[in-house]
Amino acid sequence: MIAVLKQGVTEAQKQNLINWLKSLNLGVHVSEGEYQTVLGLIGDTSKVDIDLLSGLDIIDNVTRISEPFKCANRRFHPQDTVVEIGSGDNKVKIGGGNFAIIAGPCSVESESQIIEVAKAVKASGATLLRGGAFKPRTSPYDFQGLHGEGLELLRKAREATGLPIVTEIMSAAHLDMFMDVDLIQVGARNMQNFELLKELGKINKPILLKRGLANTLKELLMSAEYIMSEGNENVILCERGIRSFDTYTRNVLDLSAIPVLQELTHLPVIVDPSHATGKSRLVKPMSLAATAAGAAGLIIEVHNDPIHALCDGAQSLTPEQFDDVARKVFQLREFI
Ligand code: PEP
Ligand code: MN
Repeated sequence: MIAVLKQGVTEAQKQNLINWLKSLNLGVHVSEGEYQTVLGLIGDTSKVDIDLLSGLDIIDNVTRISEPFKCANRRFHPQDTVVEIGSGDNKVKIGGGNFAIIAGPCSVESESQIIEVAKAVKASGATLLRGGAFKPRTSPYDFQGLHGEGLELLRKAREATGLPIVTEIMSAAHLDMFMDVDLIQVGARNMQNFELLKELGKINKPILLKRGLANTLKELLMSAEYIMSEGNENVILCERGIRSFDTYTRNVLDLSAIPVLQELTHLPVIVDPSHATGKSRLVKPMSLAATAAGAAGLIIEVHNDPIHALCDGAQSLTPEQFDDVARKVFQLREFI
């Protein structure tokens, strides 16, 4: 249920109302807009007398909503969320008209690799560095990432370039190791690892939540809700392609997810054209398409030597190819 307050309601009147709603065992999510305050009532709203509530002189209108996601719902929070990543001069904003490119290798392999790639993607306009330290591989015999050492190398690359770092967490047991990561990624395979999501909801760090391999947009939003309902509202959603019957591309990029999610939620939506297609030559057209469709950012795999990459070389761009993609994307952004 959402209750929109009238303009000019005093702080004391608002607090009284919130206290009363809380006394009914409801959670109250307050969204302060420029002109209006919207209260999202979370929990069992069947006890709320809608006529009584609507009749209060400080209430503009009350609506029962059927969507099960409350915190992520645009109806509760009409203005776009802007997620801030990193600090100081290198702080990056995503959402609310702010666009950013995250780039870097699938996995961190060595100090020279990650630093070389970080410097190159920065020079081309990327403002965040990606790199996996814990890799979710289909086969247990494949390279699993450098784990703690990988995180350490990402920190070194951040020191060398100033780029905030983005890397994937696979288990809540690793959370302590991730406290220095600027944007924590939840990969497609963990989108419904609810215990992990709840733990990430308790920290004060931005989360990049990728859509699961075969998950609906509503399921993606419910996963965001797991994080947000614990208190962490800094969530960025990522469309990275879904499984379908055509195996020509690694996945099928659902570009309509961008405008659909923008209708349903205030959270920023970015696109991963690398995992969506699995083919480096398709990354440029899909990056441009996602940008044209209104994505708040892109996450692109870049490797200094794709043929020898330990993971996802076929979809990785060389730094030169990335430079071309970034240039065209920024040019296109000027028309949006
Ligand atoms: C990744 O970004 O490294 C990754 C494994 O992506 P996804 O979870 O989308 O497959
Ligand atoms: Mn990858």
